[in-house]
Amino acid sequence: MENMEPVIGLEIHAQLKTKTKLFCSCPTEFGAPPNTNICEICTGQPGALPRMNARALELAAKAGLALGSRVNEFSLFSRKNYFYPDLPNGFQTSQLDPPICEGGSLAIALEDGSRKTIRLNRIHLEDDAGKCLHDARLGATLVDLNRAGTPLIEIVTEPDLNSSKEAVDFLKSLHSLLVRLEVTDGRMEEGEFRCDVNISLRPKGSDKLGVRGEIKNLNSFRFVGQAVEYEIRRQSALYRDNLPVRQETLHFDSVKGETRSLRSKEEAHDYRYFPQPDLPPVYVSPELVERLRESLPESREDALSRLSALGVYEGRAELLLDRPGALAYFDKAYGVYPDASRIFSLMEEHLLPLCWRDSRDPLSAPFGPEKLATLARLMEEGLAGRRSVKELFPEMYQTGSDPEALLKAKGLEQISDDEAILAIAREVVKSHPEEAAKYRAGQDKILSFLVGKLMKLSRGRADPKKASGIIRDLILHDEAEKS
Ligand code: ADP
Ligand code: MG
Ligand code: ZN
Repeated sequence: MENMEPVIGLEIHAQLKTKTKLFCSCPTEFGAPPNTNICEICTGQPGALPRMNARALELAAKAGLALGSRVNEFSLFSRKNYFYPDLPNGFQTSQLDPPICEGGSLAIALEDGSRKTIRLNRIHLEDDAGKCLHDARLGATLVDLNRAGTPLIEIVTEPDLNSSKEAVDFLKSLHSLLVRLEVTDGRMEEGEFRCDVNISLRPKGSDKLGVRGEIKNLNSFRFVGQAVEYEIRRQSALYRDNLPVRQETLHFDSVKGETRSLRSKEEAHDYRYFPQPDLPPVYVSPELVERLRESLPESREDALSRLSALGVYEGRAELLLDRPGALAYFDKAYGVYPDASRIFSLMEEHLLPLCWRDSRDPLSAPFGPEKLATLARLMEEGLAGRRSVKELFPEMYQTGSDPEALLKAKGLEQISDDEAILAIAREVVKSHPEEAAKYRAGQDKILSFLVGKLMKLSRGRADPKKASGIIRDLILHDEAEKS
């Protein structure tokens, strides 16, 4: 409906990059045989006492600092009580009030190039539940507690997003930031980054919130986009038909592309939060905050404006920030040979597509930044042409071979020596006297035909920029000699 606008708020869960769980020393590794990474604490045995993982606290505070949140010196763990077979304690250990971080924001780029700030409400620490596995063969549901007690942060936004695209862009940007900060590995297929999407509609221009649906546990950007679109259509139809929109919790069926109701507000859990008596308050010292602040990598905004000052256009430079390693690779290569746009194009056209294909951090590619810098220099000096680079790059990438040596070995060094190009040009003019005469007579367009012949004769190795000037001068100079 054109007179309504969507309002969206997100609750994002990110698994913290720790070796061990939040309150015990069991490993957080993924994919271990069921119920092998468990102990009396993470399986909720009576009398077992939790102890806070210091690394988890640092990562949560680091995320907050990078997002401009206030980090509370003291925050509290609470018990969020509910019953589920994969929740052995009978409660989740979470933070209600105060959480470790409050406020903050993250900006997204809008279609028209401007930026929109999405405010954050809070970031809190909590532990994950185990998993129920429905085994059709046994006709039974089994419980795997390996994931129980894994540390998470939950990031809660204000309802500042207004379309599926904004929601997806926000999530992508948040994901890339948290991965770059090494707060999370962010592997979405393993559920390390997932979110609940709250969505309502309201008349355009209104500042009241409509009744919302909450879609649980989406773990792909595409599903978020599809679920929001579906929910907008579903709620619009209700408003159009004057039917009530109920506040409810929904599940997104990615096969059907539909949301389905799990429970309504009346059936909502009453978690009876109360302070977790087994844990002391979480303390983040001012010294720790200082140390974490200093450890933060360059912000996205700072990196983009630095790159744009180097001549890498903002729209394209994002490429270096979207996945880990790319910006560091660029910086290293640029440090060796300071031609930002050439290094960027080599990365954009050749290196990064291959790295993404292989899910590889560019820094770990056999073709390291020094070699890319050499290649950029060879191009600048006219010793490597675009065509040979295109032909040889996959091999350089695979083997990490030295570009200069490889070009030589393949006989693909670019010919940029004027005399050598002139010699080839002479051949061309000799074998195409009519075309040369036509050019002399003022048929300008025929020059590109002659340059093409020259390139062919050089097997694509002549520097094309020089070639056209040299053959033109040759033909016109001949003219002068004759007259
Ligand atoms: P709860 O914890 O019950 O899910 P919160 O008040 O903590 O509810 O809000 C959770 C998320 O839902 C936040 O991101 C918030 O911005 C968003 N939200 C709350 N009300 C609405 C609404 N009417 N429409 C869209 N988003 C909403
Ligand atoms: Mg919620
Ligand atoms: Zn344990």
